[in-house]
Amino acid sequence: MITISDKANCSGCSACYAVCPQHCITMRPDEEGFLYPSVDINLCINCGACDKVCPLRKPFIVDEEKTSAFAVQNKNESIRMQSASGGAFSAFAAVVLNKGGIVFGGCFDKDFNVCHDSVATIDDLKRLRCSKYVQSDMGNTFSKVKALLKEGRLVLFSGTPCQVEGLNSFLKRKYDNLITLDLVCHGTPSPGLWKKYLAWNSIEEKSPITYVSFRDKHFGYAGSTMAIGFENGKTKYQSLAIQFFKYTFFQDLNSRPSCFKCHFKTIHRNADITLYDCWHINAFDKSMDDDRGTTMVLLHTDKGENLFNETKPFIRFCKADVDKAIELDGIMATQCPSPNPKRRQFFKDANELTFEQLINKYYPLSIKKRFIQCLKPIMHKLGVLNHLKRFISK
Ligand SMILES: Cc1cc2nc3c(=O)[nH]c(=O)nc-3n(C[C@H](O)[C@H](O)[C@H](O)COP(=O)(O)OP(=O)(O)OC[C@H]3O[C@@H](n4cnc5c(N)ncnc54)[C@H](O)[C@@H]3O)c2cc1C
Repeated sequence: MITISDKANCSGCSACYAVCPQHCITMRPDEEGFLYPSVDINLCINCGACDKVCPLRKPFIVDEEKTSAFAVQNKNESIRMQSASGGAFSAFAAVVLNKGGIVFGGCFDKDFNVCHDSVATIDDLKRLRCSKYVQSDMGNTFSKVKALLKEGRLVLFSGTPCQVEGLNSFLKRKYDNLITLDLVCHGTPSPGLWKKYLAWNSIEEKSPITYVSFRDKHFGYAGSTMAIGFENGKTKYQSLAIQFFKYTFFQDLNSRPSCFKCHFKTIHRNADITLYDCWHINAFDKSMDDDRGTTMVLLHTDKGENLFNETKPFIRFCKADVDKAIELDGIMATQCPSPNPKRRQFFKDANELTFEQLINKYYPLSIKKRFIQCLKPIMHKLGVLNHLKRFISK
């Protein structure tokens, strides 16, 4: 029976929940708002399936070590602007959907909680587009994927590396009709904290939330902001300088404990394809440097290469040296972030303080930050934001 003595040893992938023959595991939020398995001991028959399936309790072995890299931009500019990076995910997904396949990925539910869901049409694909920097609730995703694979349907599953490894472990065998795509992942912030943050925004604005984008390119890719739209017609555009939720993410205050000891940090992967941000496109092809976003695509398998070849009519791309691509922008492919020393206190405060007090304690809005936010549109217009971001990230 699965027990979690050290939270760093559970990524919340939900493979144990999906595999249980007794359906006696539920995924429940802890005091930090992350989901963990909880076993109903009255129903458990101690079969050990949950322990065996956990990808964090077995050696992580990568089957093939042959990775190639390409910097990619979706030719459809509207899709690229809606995507976190260059819209490569949408290009891959569209090819799969056009063949009658099903695509799984992270999306918002009607209340803007982040969960995994599937889409079968190009029109619905917009639900999965763009990163949501919150750990997604997998629900019954793994069982749904398995059922579709057994029916012979083509499936593209996308998610974080721990979700892809969880799925592979749950499926136990390889399926020719399954393509997996993972992300270079900094970590996954708390769904519980996200819920509180949404509620606070809605109260502040006295209006329900109708739209969220974690990567709005209003001020370009380099100056990407978070946008929150309200029923009253207002939209808040907030850069990192004043964006509390993203700030606490990048300060490593709000990610899951397992993210700081991630088991799946490697360049070569079992996923067929890996995606991440290519901020330094100018180092690979200056003509593609237009501040609208580029995805770095790593292809690990023949399946990944084949899908990439089919996607070529819909993308602009250039080949990249893998080591250079990792060194410039993909360091999180191989390294874990370190937890902020204030992390434990932060979550304690998140439960005890009002949200206003939490913000004021961890990220007060100083005049300097407001000034930087005001400067952003000007720097974007002058075309210097792009260069400044690269300079800072060096
Ligand atoms: C939690 C998280 C952390 C990330 N950390 C980094 C990082 O440190 N460095 C970096 O370069 N890139 C990171 N990325 C990846 C980056 O943000 C882009 O998703 C990636 O470059 C692909 O961009 P795109 O424009 O091709 O496609 P997009 O349309 O932007 O990508 C959408 C993809 O993200 C998936 N997705 C969205 N939200 C979630 C979620 N909550 N959980 C699982 N999957 C989700 C969708 O299923 C889809 O596959 C992260 C993404 C996520 C979701």
